[in-house]
This record gives sequence, C-alpha cells and structure tokens, in this order.
Amino acid sequence: MRKKIVAGNWKMNLDYNEGLGVFSEIINMVKDEVTGTQEAVICSPFIHLHSLVQLAKGYSKVSLGAQNAHQAESGAYTGEISAKMIKSIGAAYVILGHSERRQYFGETNELLAKKTDTALANDLRPIFCIGETLQEREANQYFNIIKSQLVEGVFHLDAAHFSKLVIAYEPVWAIGTGVTASSEQAQEIHAFIRKEIATKYSQEVADNTTILYGGSCNPKNAPELFAQPDIDGGLIGGASLKSRDFVDIVK
Ligand code: PGA
Repeated sequence: MRKKIVAGNWKMNLDYNEGLGVFSEIINMVKDEVTGTQEAVICSPFIHLHSLVQLAKGYSKVSLGAQNAHQAESGAYTGEISAKMIKSIGAAYVILGHSERRQYFGETNELLAKKTDTALANDLRPIFCIGETLQEREANQYFNIIKSQLVEGVFHLDAAHFSKLVIAYEPVWAIGTGVTASSEQAQEIHAFIRKEIATKYSQEVADNTTILYGGSCNPKNAPELFAQPDIDGGLIGGASLKSRDFVDIVK
C-alpha cells in the first residue's frame, strides 16, 4: 500500500517564532487524524527545521523536510546547505525540482538528477516536483514536458532508489494562482506518470509510488482531488501557512 501524504511547503514565509507557533498548532490538531499509511509533512525554511524536528518527537506520523539541498556532499559553497546536514538534524524529506527553483534559480533536469542522487545517498526522501507551464499546456506539450522531467531528472535511478521518491505533480499555472487543475486534469496526468513509472520500472514500483498533486490546493478542493485513484495527497503552499487549513486538508 502506497503512503498517503499531505506535505506543506512553507516557501520563504513565517519568521522563526511564527513558524514554531503554526507548527505547534498543526501537530496538536493532526495527531489523531493521521493514521496507518498516512503521513503529514512540513517542509520549512532551514532556520526552523531543527526546532520543528524536536517539536515533532513522539508524533510518528508527522515528518519534516527541507525545500532544497545542494548537489555536492560538502565543500566551498558559501551559503549553501547539504543533504547530509539536513539528515543530521532528523529531517526525512527534501523538496527537489520545485518550479520556483527551476524558474528563479535556473535548476535544470540535469542538476536535479545530481541533487536527487546526493539526497538519496544521504538517506533523505526527495519530493520530486514536475509540471508544465501554462504555455506548455496550451501548446499541448504537457505530456512531453512531464515525461522529459521524469526521464532526465529521476529515471536514471535503479528501482530500489526510485522507490524512495515521492513525486509531486504541480502544474506551474496552478501554483499560487488560485486556479486549481480540475480533478480530471490532475488525474489524467497522475495516471500518465504512473504509467511511465510502470513502463520504466514495473507495475509494482508504479503502484507503490506516492504521487502528490500541488497547485492552489485548499480544504474545499482537496476532497475531490484526493478522491482520484492516482492522487495520493498533496503538496500545499499557501494553505499550509494556516494551521486550520492545513489540518482540514489532512482530514
Ligand atoms: P500553492 O503552492 O498551494 O500556494 O499553490 C503549491 C506549491 O508551490 O508547492
């Protein structure tokens, strides 16, 4: 049975004290909601991460993640954070390939393949983001784009390593815009992603891969999106900054 995950991506929001406050509310509210193969994850700024890991001790269904990690193991990369450092404080996940990293920081599929290797070598689970822009959707390019993001970003992995990944489909036109993909649009792509994984690896690997939807997901639209057979939860930006909204999505 693949895991059902709701992961919050705080991006560059909430100062340290605000972050601790929101997270404390979240764990208090979600602790009885998340059961079995479900997991709630918060991907916070690096500054908050160690304290949040401490707060989450004892809550086995709540995990923490970073939003980025460097591709090198260590070295002279002023201002950067390594996968090993993230792992060493007890975080479990790292978001890689978010469209904002691709767009504003020039992260390519090739670079992301290296980041994925380094994260996995340090026993972090990447939440690997893929998705097309509005232009690519309107030009009917989206299947090609998503396939090349998979092929160039993560399909170099062997099945054992690939099985550690969570995939997040986030259409760029839906991120932070208030425009959500319809449940049919999202399901179509999720099914396509799962089919590509089955073709590359096996049906078993595909069936066990958690594929999240992200992009203007909120407590109102989450139930319909998450009811789709190939949507296993969400990657939540704006709505993860409010504890009540995040917990309602988890519920
Ligand atoms: P959003 O962001 O929920 O604010 O659209 C999602 C994301 O970027 O992961």
